[in-house]
Amino acid sequence: MAVGEYYDKLETMPQAKRQQHLDKALREQVAYAYQHSPAVKKSFDKAGVKPGDIKTTKDLEKLPIIRKTDLLEMQKADLPYGGVLGSAKEDVERIFISPGPIYEIQPSTCKWFAKAFWAAGFRKGDVVINTFTYHMSPAGILFHEAIKDCGATVVVAGTGNTDLQIQIMKELKVTGFVGTPSFLNTIIKRAEEMGHNIKKELDIKRAWFTGEMLAPSLRKTFEEDYDIDTYQTYAVTEPGGAIAYECKEKNGMHLMDEYVTEIVDPETGKQLGPGEVGEIVTTQLHNPNWGLIRFGTGDLSSYEAEPCKCGRTAYRIMGIVGRAGDAVKVRGMFIVAKQAEQAIKGFPQIDKYQLIVWRKEHRDEMTLKCELKDKTVDQNRLAVDINSKFQDICRIKIDHFEYVSPGTIGEKAEGIKDERKWE
Ligand SMILES: [Zn+2]
Repeated sequence: MAVGEYYDKLETMPQAKRQQHLDKALREQVAYAYQHSPAVKKSFDKAGVKPGDIKTTKDLEKLPIIRKTDLLEMQKADLPYGGVLGSAKEDVERIFISPGPIYEIQPSTCKWFAKAFWAAGFRKGDVVINTFTYHMSPAGILFHEAIKDCGATVVVAGTGNTDLQIQIMKELKVTGFVGTPSFLNTIIKRAEEMGHNIKKELDIKRAWFTGEMLAPSLRKTFEEDYDIDTYQTYAVTEPGGAIAYECKEKNGMHLMDEYVTEIVDPETGKQLGPGEVGEIVTTQLHNPNWGLIRFGTGDLSSYEAEPCKCGRTAYRIMGIVGRAGDAVKVRGMFIVAKQAEQAIKGFPQIDKYQLIVWRKEHRDEMTLKCELKDKTVDQNRLAVDINSKFQDICRIKIDHFEYVSPGTIGEKAEGIKDERKWE
């Protein structure tokens, strides 16, 4: 078991060493998968790529992205694993089932998974209620084992039964919660309805979330109103679990070294640089018998390469900003409505807005139409301030500002409107 701040040595290795580690593990995974997983051989051969062509993580760009729908089709055509399995069927230890159904295998030996919980501070002495389902989905059992691997005691609760969960938390003096943010919110609301004082009667000190993103306002409520320290992890079931996790800095999620995780242009599959929004594509390196190379999650994020104060050196993904279908590509950058909103809604002078994307002589242009609460504000100054914030978040500049009279932008018109014509 780990001691101290970090769960293993990988978490703090210098970036150059990490790149070597990932390249080496990737070469091994690719060579093994090509030989043992028929689906991998098929997809490489189709792309005209030999295992020896994949020397570094950058070379992954040569390969197609496999999405959930592809995996489902592959499995339907070749039950049960779609040629992804690289071992004899009788050597499969356990099978999980994702919606579809999609069949996934995973051995019980993946101890590295625990670092997502270790970073959140789970230790021996903690009593942790696991409210993820133990049925079909990998969530319940995988998280159960990871909590145990941190030395803590696990309460096998599963989903639902809110009233009973509250009673259990009280009587077992539960210190940690594992589940979704919305379920913890439901529990708290229900407990208060039942007349409980959360801070006085419950011992809960920390919460670990995955499955849905934690809204900043909800995090604030948990932490400030109820003294519950919160952490989130990004997990995807098909490639085998937790891909990135938060540390105490809570500023992005560190990528696990058991995967090569890329942020790519979902249309071209090319890797993007820090701060650029693209699809999270991941290749697992922890299970040679599961030949899933370049799994496209459909989730959009960006990554930060700057060092983190916590001492972990892995790059961080900066939250999930949307789904691949929701993004609008402007001058090569993906903009998601939620991010644009985050940049613009922070200005109290703005009542309503709509971001219009259009084309002028083969160049994408962006116009921000705004309705102001108070017309006397310095409009030029406001445009400069909004653009600075917008560029921080979306990495691209708004070209034009148009202040329109109240009522011009309908309630439902807010967001991004793509008016480009491709003729
Ligand atoms: Zn950190």
